[in-house]
Amino acid sequence: MDPMRHRNEAATVVAVGTVSFGDGSYPVIAGPCAIESESQLMAAARIVAEAGASMLRGGAYKPRTSPYSFQGLGREGLRLLHSAGQATGLPTVAEVMEPREVEIATTYLDMLQVGSRNMQNVPLLRALGETGKPVLLKRGFAATIEEWLLAAEYILDAGNSHVVLCERGIRTFETQTRNTLDISAVPVAKALGRLPVIVDPSHAAGRRDLITPLALAGRAVGADGMMVEVHPSPDTALSDGPQQLDADQFTSLMDVLDIHSRREEIDRIDHRIVHLLARRVEASIEIGRAKTARGLPLLSPSREETILDVVGDEAARAGLDPRVVRAMYESILSESRRAQQRSTLAAVQGGIGA
Ligand code: PEP
Ligand code: MN
Repeated sequence: MDPMRHRNEAATVVAVGTVSFGDGSYPVIAGPCAIESESQLMAAARIVAEAGASMLRGGAYKPRTSPYSFQGLGREGLRLLHSAGQATGLPTVAEVMEPREVEIATTYLDMLQVGSRNMQNVPLLRALGETGKPVLLKRGFAATIEEWLLAAEYILDAGNSHVVLCERGIRTFETQTRNTLDISAVPVAKALGRLPVIVDPSHAAGRRDLITPLALAGRAVGADGMMVEVHPSPDTALSDGPQQLDADQFTSLMDVLDIHSRREEIDRIDHRIVHLLARRVEASIEIGRAKTARGLPLLSPSREETILDVVGDEAARAGLDPRVVRAMYESILSESRRAQQRSTLAAVQGGIGA
């Protein structure tokens, strides 16, 4: 039997308010590691909203490695996150650790997060399955992809299909980074689980200098978004200071992602233009053959003049300079003429040889 019984045929799209994971967009969830105070959270929320983040994050319950480290503001943190989300218009996400907190958390949050250390907290997964709220399920730092997908299965099987997976780095022998972002897990988990997968370079690397390259790597392998930690003053952060970005660093990360996605769009457009040009040349070669067969002349200057007028008018309507588009078309037409002549000559030479 398929261990992933709730796998959809088509890839799932998960909506959190107006934000969608899995529809080809790349939403960025940003905010501080921990909610420390109202002023710290509001400053972070304004930074991320202004730079174009799609969702606000912040930890209210912090599962710290040491019990003596800052553990978070708890319910008061959730309340602060809710009002920062309202103030900036961003949907919110925060981690919950215990099943008994789930119900109250659903009243404050738009999405509930399962942290890496709780990936196999079965009672928590079941409680989240019963809520119907979107869930962000982080990969356990020592979990296989199959274990991660089976953890998701607990939520799906309890009736909640709104699950987004988050690759946040796994423990390896490498010590230069805090964890190792498992880039191949993104396409593998997407293919096996049919759920959206985002990346969290902050917890993977533990170093702010690696966030941008890893964010781009995530995009390149088809991630459905990312999570990144942003703090108004990372040096004074109560947790994860070395990996949090300040306002300028987050703004430049967003600029890089934006430029990158526009370049991708330009590349897709250029690809289509070149293939359309090839089809255009092919069609004019066919016309050339038909004309030759009927003994008609290849060139027809009045037809070319009409084409230039039509595309010039179309260009003006599309907001382009008609002279520039006419000039581009003159090159296209001259290439079409050359292609027609080459093909006619080849046919004649073939005829002579035959
Ligand atoms: C977090 O996102 O706040 C967090 C603790 O991350 P992880 O569970 O991936 O360590
Ligand atoms: Mn953190």
